[in-house]
Amino acid sequence: MRQATVYIDSAALQYNLNRVKQLAPNSKIVSMVKANAYGHGVKDCLAALNNTDAFGVATLEEALELRAQGSKHPITLIEGIFNANEMHAVLQHQLECVVHQQQQVEWLLQYKAEYIQQGLKVWIKLNSGMNRLGFKIDEIIDVITHLKTEGFHCVLAMHFANADVPEHPMNQQQIQQLLTIKESCAPIEVSCCNSAAIFNWPELHFDYVRPGIMLYGASPFADKTVHELDLKPVMTFTARIIALNHIQAGDSVGYGSWFTADEAMDIAIVSIGYGDGYPRAYIKQNYVAVNGRLTRVIGRVSMDMIAIDVTGLNVSLDHEVELWGQHRLVDDVAEANGTIGYELLCRLSNRPIRRKIEN
Ligand SMILES: *Cc1c(COP(=O)(O)O)cnc(C)c1O
Repeated sequence: MRQATVYIDSAALQYNLNRVKQLAPNSKIVSMVKANAYGHGVKDCLAALNNTDAFGVATLEEALELRAQGSKHPITLIEGIFNANEMHAVLQHQLECVVHQQQQVEWLLQYKAEYIQQGLKVWIKLNSGMNRLGFKIDEIIDVITHLKTEGFHCVLAMHFANADVPEHPMNQQQIQQLLTIKESCAPIEVSCCNSAAIFNWPELHFDYVRPGIMLYGASPFADKTVHELDLKPVMTFTARIIALNHIQAGDSVGYGSWFTADEAMDIAIVSIGYGDGYPRAYIKQNYVAVNGRLTRVIGRVSMDMIAIDVTGLNVSLDHEVELWGQHRLVDDVAEANGTIGYELLCRLSNRPIRRKIEN
């Protein structure tokens, strides 16, 4: 059987959640599990995240999956609901909504009594310059005042556009706007920190922090590795060697004859490709780990296969190769392919087998 495998390390996930608690000891933690827990599989992550205070998801379907898996935690829909109909499920499953535009406020007001009676909070999103979602600084005070008057428990929410670049001037603009609104609407709960912001600004942790990528042991920063951040990779992605070839100088490998050998070498064919979610884009030389040691990926990535250099390595058929994990960080694979670890994790296909490693 072809065995491309995604291992999910429960102990690493718990370790990373504890890192968040260490860094933000006075805040509640909303663990972000959108996009199937960043591709890790909600089902395999839920037990390890049991000590979180709440979950954050992007869609109603993602929230319902959490409930179906038995989670009783508060759940926030980070984009709110997409039509009035979704209010029924919100109330039935006790989900908390973000409101980022006026129509959502009206939907909420229609179901005000039930929503408030269930003790659900409403998260009001400030657009402080990212210009994606939220009310602008000159409209949000009215929205918050209105909702408070109607009896809603409000949380002021904001998202950084450049949290991964602490010195970016936009950050100070966003922080100033948030603090202004926080003051004008006091008392109000506040939440603005994703993973990068949790590291950068302890003074902005406020009532809720919203870690995503750091929980999974990938880095939110281009210039800091997960090891430097004291986080542990949760996912190990592996595949096996299905053929070994000895080639001569001048021989080429793979589609487009894109790689040509300078000298005689041993190559192995590994049963993994872009059909599994392994990236084909090429910015610079990519590597895999064999016996914990890095070795080159050779030639083009195919749908189902790659070739790697195994010259001088002690390997045989069925040997397991680490595509990313402890030794070859997903962030480094992403960098070699012109993207970020987040994307590679989220866009794995459902072809690899999934195995949860219990602690
Ligand atoms: C995804 C998301 C986060 C988590 O971001 P990370 O960079 O993965 O930590 C936090 N807040 C909101 C609103 C998000 O959409």
